[in-house]
Order: sequence, then structure tokens, then C-alpha cells
Amino acid sequence: MKNVAILGSTGSIGKQALDVVRSHPDRFALYGVSAHSSEEAFLALLRTTRPRRAVFSRPLSETVPGVALSYGVQALCDLAADPQVDVVVLAISGIAALVPLLSALKAGKRVAIANKESLVCGGDLVKEALQQGGGELLPVDSEQSAIFQCLQNGRREEVQKLILTASGGPFFRQPREELRDITPEQAVKHPTWSMGRKISLDSATLMNKGLEVMEAARLFDFPGEKIDVLIHPQSIVHSMVAYRDGTVMANLSNADMRLPIQYAMTWPERIPSPARPLNLWEQPDLSFFKPDMARFPAIKMAYDCLKAGGGCPVVYNGANERAAELFFQGRLGFLEIEDSVAYALDRFQNRPMGDLDDILLVDGEARRLVDEFQTTRSKA
Ligand code: NAD
Ligand code: MG
Repeated sequence: MKNVAILGSTGSIGKQALDVVRSHPDRFALYGVSAHSSEEAFLALLRTTRPRRAVFSRPLSETVPGVALSYGVQALCDLAADPQVDVVVLAISGIAALVPLLSALKAGKRVAIANKESLVCGGDLVKEALQQGGGELLPVDSEQSAIFQCLQNGRREEVQKLILTASGGPFFRQPREELRDITPEQAVKHPTWSMGRKISLDSATLMNKGLEVMEAARLFDFPGEKIDVLIHPQSIVHSMVAYRDGTVMANLSNADMRLPIQYAMTWPERIPSPARPLNLWEQPDLSFFKPDMARFPAIKMAYDCLKAGGGCPVVYNGANERAAELFFQGRLGFLEIEDSVAYALDRFQNRPMGDLDDILLVDGEARRLVDEFQTTRSKA
């Protein structure tokens, strides 16, 4: 029996992780959960699932019998490092996941990691925490899970390329000039996946794929030159690995995040999952396109950040998180998201990142640069 803690339990990934835990009562017990907002939904979840521990970002207005409640970032880290916990599912969105991630890894936990922002920003700190604690980092992001699985078929030196597939988002076929007036409602309607609001927007702007290029580099320790992006609108092939003899290993399944969540929890074992089996004959066309970097500056900027290193990936992420907030508030246009990230990167004085404080400082700097972009452009 494995005790599971789901951090970010009220979100899209969090709920699907709960589903996986519920599907295997013989293997998994829900030990702890956390959430940041929607107190009502969180309390309802506590009443139905009755975990031993629960962490909210603020004090809760009610208690739930049998559940030990606590609140704040320190409590979140304590839950991630709790000696009773075997597997931490990291389903918090944004850079806020970095601190609990480090805490779980230092305590030697297996972390099934959905959050990509923490990997992009954490860089070497994540590696150090892994080494220090002897924990395990298992990817949940569908592309990274696919690559992780394809990499099990060969040796590292035999790998020619990691090929990350991208659906291209809802506007893949629209000319750029038509994207200027995209509304938040249009932007979060993803063609193949149902996800949280921020990652849905990131998929539409292609910032998600940029983050994933950096995430793959961090997880598998390959340079940008060894990572390709391939547009695949149907999201059936989740990613691939090309080997030097010309063989390409691909990972295919229906788009259902419960599959990579479960695999990260059970690896190296495979067990039946709640996902619907893939019948390829029901899926007439699988198509692939090479992305045009001029059309997708978000991806181009990510490769540049990876190459530049230092604080650039942190700026890319922080600027994008802030720009997404401003877009949802109606204060930035759709194409201004990538413009504001470019603005922040242009003005940032790159430097090496030492500890967590360096990273958080640069994250704040990036957010302020986006606010500056927003103010100057609204005066113009
Ligand atoms: P979501 O917005 O649906 O849920 C986020 C969860 O994190 C919620 O429980 C929320 O309460 C919590 N949270 C938000 N801000 C927090 C903070 N500051 N401190 C603590 N908790 C906080 O997001 P999601 O779509 O489930 O995505 C979660 C992560 O997984 C993201 O990093 C995303 O990029 C990644 N991911 C998601 C999917 C998907 O299908 N949704 C796929 C791949 C990767
Ligand atoms: Mg993904």
C-alpha cells in the first residue's frame, strides 16, 4: 500500500490523480491533499475522501472530523516531506510548486510531477535536491511521460533526438493577424485536452511548448539541439525518441492524463487504468507538420533561453505567468503575451542562478517588467 499526497488536488490534474487513487484501492491510499482557492470545493473533497492531512493556503472556516488541517507554504512543504507519504503528485500550477517540490525531493519522495514551471525555473536546485534526498522524479506531463517511456528502449548515447509533439493549440491554422482579438474564452478552448485555465492558454500561445522544451532538457539532461518540436493536431502520438540507427520509438494513447499520472505512480509496473483503450482504426488521420519558428516566437524564445541559461528560463516563465494573469483580466491582448515575454527577456540582465532567493528575485523582476510593458503600451 502506498500513501499518496496530491498537491493541487482541486485542479484538473489533481482531480484526475484522485480518480487514479480511487481506481486502485488495493494499491493506493489518499493520505494528504492541498489546495489554494475554492474553499467550498476543497471542503467538499475533504468530506468525501477523508484524507489524514489537508493543507489550504489560508485557515479554513470549518473543520472536518478525522482530517488534520493546516495552512500556508510551510505546511505544504511539511506534507510533501511527511514520513508517512510515499508518492507526491505535484499538480499545483505555476512557480508556486517549486518550494514543495524541493521539500519532497529532499525528503526522498517519489514525485509524480505534472508541474513544469518548477522544473524550468528550479534548474540545478532540483537536481541537487534529488541527489541530496535520493528521491525520484517521474514525469506526468504527457509529452515527457512519452519520452521517458521511449527512452527505456535504448542507451543514452544512442539517442539522436527527442521529438516533442504539440497539438498546435486551437488557432494553429489561423493567420497571425486574426489572433490579435482572441478572447480568454476562445483561448482556453483546447481542441484535444481538457485542462486548467493557465495551461490551456499556454497551449494556445505555444508558450506551453516552449516551457516543455526546457522541461525536457531539465528532466532528461539533453541540450536544445537534441530536442525537436513537431506539430501533431490529433494528440494521439504523445512524443517520440529518434535513435541513431534511424528507429523512432513513439508513445501512443488516447488523450487521457490519468494514464501518465498512473504510470508515474506505478513505474516500473504497468497496471490496468481507467483510460479508454486506443483503437487506431477509429482515428482516421494522424498528421504531422514542422513548426514555423517565425510563426511561433514562443518556441523560438524558449530555445534561446535554454541556450542562454542563468536566469533566462525564470524570466520566460515569470513573464508568461504575469502576462497570462493580465490577459485573463482583459489588460493584455492575446499576441501581447509573447510580446511582453520578449520585452522582459530583452531588458533582463542575465546572471547565474545560485539559490532559491535568486530565482524568486528574478521571477519578481520578470513580473514587474511585464507590468511595465503593459503600462507603457496602454499609454501609447
Ligand atoms: P489547475 O489550475 O486546474 O489546478 C491547479 C491546482 O493548484 C489547484 O488545486 C489550485 O488550488 C492549486 N494552486 C494554484 N496556485 C497555487 C499556489 N500559489 N499555491 C498552492 N497551490 C496552488 O491546473 P492544472 O491544469 O491541473 O495544471 C497543474 C500543473 O500541471 C501545471 O503546472 C500544468 O502546466 C501541468 N500540466 C497540466 C496538464 C493538464 O492536463 N491539466 C497537463 C500537463 C501538465
Ligand atoms: Mg504537455
